[in-house]
Amino acid sequence: MRFLGGYPPNVLDQVRAMAAAGKLGEHIARRYPQRHTVQTDRALYDYTTELKQEYLRSAPPLHKVGYDARLDTAQHALGLHTAISRVQGGKLKAKKEIRVASLFKDAPPEFLRMIVVHELAHLKESDHNKAFYRLCEHMEPQYHQLEFDTRLYLAWRELEAAQSKGATPSPAQSQL
Ligand SMILES: [Zn+2]
Repeated sequence: MRFLGGYPPNVLDQVRAMAAAGKLGEHIARRYPQRHTVQTDRALYDYTTELKQEYLRSAPPLHKVGYDARLDTAQHALGLHTAISRVQGGKLKAKKEIRVASLFKDAPPEFLRMIVVHELAHLKESDHNKAFYRLCEHMEPQYHQLEFDTRLYLAWRELEAAQSKGATPSPAQSQL
């Protein structure tokens, strides 16, 4: 299953069974009934810098934060962190930018938090290594559960979209 590639087979079997029974949406909605109110790029910038101030003060400053509609269908749906290097007055200066897929505008607050925490951790660690996940858990103790549930949410959305088009979902392609 796309989005859930790294998880154990028995977990994936449970997800498939729930999806086949048409219960995946219900399961997610019951656990995450709320919607957040962070609807603009400005609000997302404030939300992100607040988290950064609280937990990652020493990380490089953020130059730009925003929603990106092009990430909806991109492989890297969870978000995109970029460090754009520019030559400025002979010095190389990295511009830190966080972009979050627009589909997360209409998501539970827990999922937005997970995405932003993930992207903030990338300010310090570019790889998904142990240090990276330690940072994520430092900012959000429920990080691993939330990442799984966010992936479940993405998988469910994709299934719904495929069903409404009468098509079957595209073959497994695990991407973070
Ligand atoms: Zn990442």
